[in-house]
Amino acid sequence: MKILVINCGSSSLKFQLIDSDSEAVICKGLCERIGIDGSQIVYTPAGKDKITKVEPMPDHNKAIEMVIEALTNAENGVVKLEEIGAVGHRIVHGGEKFTKSVVINEEVIKAIEEVSDLAPLHNPANLIGIRACEKVMPGVPMVAVFDTAFHQTMPQEAYLYGLPYSYYEKYGIRRYGFHGTSHSYVSKRAAELLGKDIKDLKLIVCHLGNGASISAVKDGKCIDTSMGLTPLEGLIMGTRTGDIDPSVVEFIMKKEGSTVADVTNLLNKKSGVFGLSNDLSSDFRDLEDAYLKGDEGAKRAVDAFTYRVAKYIGSYTAAMGGVDAICFTAGVGENSGFTRGLICERLSFLGATVDAEANKVRGEEKTISGADSKVTLMVVPTNEELAIARDTFELCK
Ligand code: ADP
Repeated sequence: MKILVINCGSSSLKFQLIDSDSEAVICKGLCERIGIDGSQIVYTPAGKDKITKVEPMPDHNKAIEMVIEALTNAENGVVKLEEIGAVGHRIVHGGEKFTKSVVINEEVIKAIEEVSDLAPLHNPANLIGIRACEKVMPGVPMVAVFDTAFHQTMPQEAYLYGLPYSYYEKYGIRRYGFHGTSHSYVSKRAAELLGKDIKDLKLIVCHLGNGASISAVKDGKCIDTSMGLTPLEGLIMGTRTGDIDPSVVEFIMKKEGSTVADVTNLLNKKSGVFGLSNDLSSDFRDLEDAYLKGDEGAKRAVDAFTYRVAKYIGSYTAAMGGVDAICFTAGVGENSGFTRGLICERLSFLGATVDAEANKVRGEEKTISGADSKVTLMVVPTNEELAIARDTFELCK
């Protein structure tokens, strides 16, 4: 079956067409600037050159139409419309309602709407993507795959904040966690690579991209993760603060006469390694170059980042009563041997050692721990689209 995977943002739409038998990507691409001047679709059919078409996309319906046109046109299309057997949608927030992927029907759409106040930027965009696909591909089954679902196994002691319990009961204020599709995929793949049953493993997955989160996976179940009610909590990220004292918000508002919205924007968009490096960059390639040239801001930012990752690894080791393997994934985790090396240097308390040669790996599955290491360190590239396609196939085959 050919599965179309859709990841719909407020002004962008990423897609991949995946063959469920071979798991090969037949075509992948991105619609950018939907509803804004200068919208375009950029896509690459497998084995062919990248194609860019600049055309106004006033809304997501038009974007989906352009995706379908790109996939099916006579000149360089890769599939007939009727061959697309199912669509898998990445949905950011499933609240407590969704603990696994589900076939989309009106009831599911309503439930996604109901938890939209937990992800006001993302869930409405995801829903627009669902409606647009319904219009353009009526009758084709669709599946919702939630970023939060994998983390629903967290015990109450891990997901509750120290707030009055009534705030959880009334408003659902708790830790949900994100990047769940990635944490699930990487932990399963790590168990396969280790040749062990996931039910016998204690794993820590470090998803280090522009957004970054870390999770503790014990016996195949997530027991803790670093992101919370929103993706702002936890690690220091590209431009997000991660954990801070909530009183900082009021303090900055008083000092600068700013609003809650101003400070929320500051915490999400201007902080993290970007802010710590004095606005040098949020991209670890730039920070690594600058660090190696002795730039103090880059060093400050990267040191704070790697310290926080190592601190979480320590706390998750405590939470699981040990750790068998630590997995690095996403843009930084897969590609930056430099950053991985700095994190692993901080893990000597676990008896972890790194094989410097193996740690040069980029974007490939590889064990990077030394022969004498007490814990396995590994790079496991994530593949959220494939994970979405697999779930979609399982529910629609
Ligand atoms: P997201 O999906 O959250 O946008 P990604 O997982 O794609 O993030 O990661 C993007 C980040 O990966 C970039 O901002 C950059 O910092 C980092 N990155 C990509 N390639 C490299 C590399 N070769 N070395 C260091 N960092 C890299």
